Amino acid sequence: MISARGWVHFSITWHLRPRLPSASPFLCSASPCSHDSRIPTPVIQPSAAPSSPLHISTLTLDLHPPFLHPQQPHKMSTLRHVLRPVPRLRPTTVAAARLTPSISARRNYTEFTPSPIFALTETEELLKESVARFANDAILPKVREMDEAEQMDKGIVSQLFEQGLMGVEIPEKYGGSEMNFGACIVAIEELARVDPSVSVLVDVHNTLVNTVFKTYGSEALKSKYLPRLATESVGSFCLSEPASGSDAFALKTRATKSQSGGSYTISGQKMWITNAAEADIFIVFANLAPERGYKGISAFVLEKGMPGFSIAKKEKKLGIRASSTCMLTFDDVEVPAENLIGKEGEGYKYAISILNEGRIGIAAQMTGLALGAFETAIKYVWNERRQFGQLVGDFQGMQFQIAQARTEIEAARALLYNAVRTKETGGVRAGEGFVREAAMAKLYASQVAGKVSGLAIEWQGGMGFVREGLSEKFWRDSKIGAIYEGTSNIQLQTIAKLLQQEYKK
Ligand SMILES: Cc1cc2nc3c(=O)[nH]c(=O)nc-3n(C[C@H](O)[C@H](O)[C@H](O)COP(=O)(O)OP(=O)(O)OC[C@H]3O[C@@H](n4cnc5c(N)ncnc54)[C@H](O)[C@@H]3O)c2cc1C
Repeated sequence: MISARGWVHFSITWHLRPRLPSASPFLCSASPCSHDSRIPTPVIQPSAAPSSPLHISTLTLDLHPPFLHPQQPHKMSTLRHVLRPVPRLRPTTVAAARLTPSISARRNYTEFTPSPIFALTETEELLKESVARFANDAILPKVREMDEAEQMDKGIVSQLFEQGLMGVEIPEKYGGSEMNFGACIVAIEELARVDPSVSVLVDVHNTLVNTVFKTYGSEALKSKYLPRLATESVGSFCLSEPASGSDAFALKTRATKSQSGGSYTISGQKMWITNAAEADIFIVFANLAPERGYKGISAFVLEKGMPGFSIAKKEKKLGIRASSTCMLTFDDVEVPAENLIGKEGEGYKYAISILNEGRIGIAAQMTGLALGAFETAIKYVWNERRQFGQLVGDFQGMQFQIAQARTEIEAARALLYNAVRTKETGGVRAGEGFVREAAMAKLYASQVAGKVSGLAIEWQGGMGFVREGLSEKFWRDSKIGAIYEGTSNIQLQTIAKLLQQEYKK
């Protein structure tokens, strides 16, 4: 981030009981790189906040711009190590270089060798390791039990909060982990490799609910709800209704404003609401001015226990069965005026923008699921099951399928991380943001998840079909990818519309 004074601000992270900063080799070697006396020694400040529960601590470093000059000799390998991820950590610079046709901007961009699209920042890499460990140690032993019981384990929800996974992007001042969007996606993907149900709980909470508060909430709403969302209260995002699914803005839930203007009354029903059984905080879309059509839609914060608000039927589902999906009823629920999110009549804009982001989360869930299914199966065919005197995975007919499946997973991951970086950089096509990338990533990842998890069952024969392992569950869980946060047809419609805008005369 370039500050008003023209200084460049970096974050350095390290993992588990850091020995920094007092005897830091980074600190010791920072000064010698100031060969030019006009360049001040870097200012290094340990973060005031305690280590996050993820044991990733942050150190902020301010460097004067000449440090970034390509000719500036800085022998310090640690510094180069920190500087290299800059295009990804602070990608706005890169986006600007792509969009601005000035020679200097182009030169800045080409100073860096582009990395593979899957390359992660150090923070993301550390998070990935910690989430993978947590998923395998704490979640995996309970996956089958939760699926059979169609119930999310309360202990796991508590641990998700303790691990800092429920406030990945929430600023530290509100009790969150203050990481980037990429980190959130990495966490969702890693969780889905083990359990897509836990993954979607984290996904909806972070990419939809937290993001709404962070992006559109007043300071009062942020101060009241973000600390709770980061540490103890699950959130739900409530848009769909019995009569409005793909046509989401045909919603019938109504909001009326009191004469004094001090409150709103909400009446109606929501359907298919993820996390509803665990949630305390609900973002509810209701139409305040039906005569204005979708332009009357506004967003409100409701809390469990408000008079007239009931969480009704929990759906019995094909897949992601541990994830709760419920019907909600609002019978003249009175909410204080300060619980309006943003402005009256702008709810549809918020929903569109947030769901674009949410789709990348679902793409991550589906990519993680595909990887989880793939890995489960190949461990079996390449290490355990023998037929005709050899491991079944050694038959060329199997090897080719495995190679094809992995290629498709990699392609899905490429689309996913391209969408992540496009979102973080603000987009590469003027006015389009990351809509196309998000739609393509979700569409393709859900197709790959369905295909690979289906094949993974076949590769294991009867053992893939029974409920002893997790393969049949991955396949059941994969179906939802083509349905929620916009069906596959809706993604195709979005992509086609954008292509038409680009090519149709
Ligand atoms: C497990 C689960 C969890 C969910 N979680 C949430 C949540 O937390 N919050 C929330 O608000 N909603 C949630 N949803 C709702 C979800 O977003 C909707 O189910 C989805 O948008 C599709 O709506 P629908 O089910 O009414 O299908 P419909 O809209 O009735 O679609 C039926 C079929 O028609 C096709 N179709 C519809 N319109 C078009 C078109 N214009 N062109 C081509 N084909 C079309 C669809 O692609 C689909 O194949 C969840 C749903 C499920 C199943």
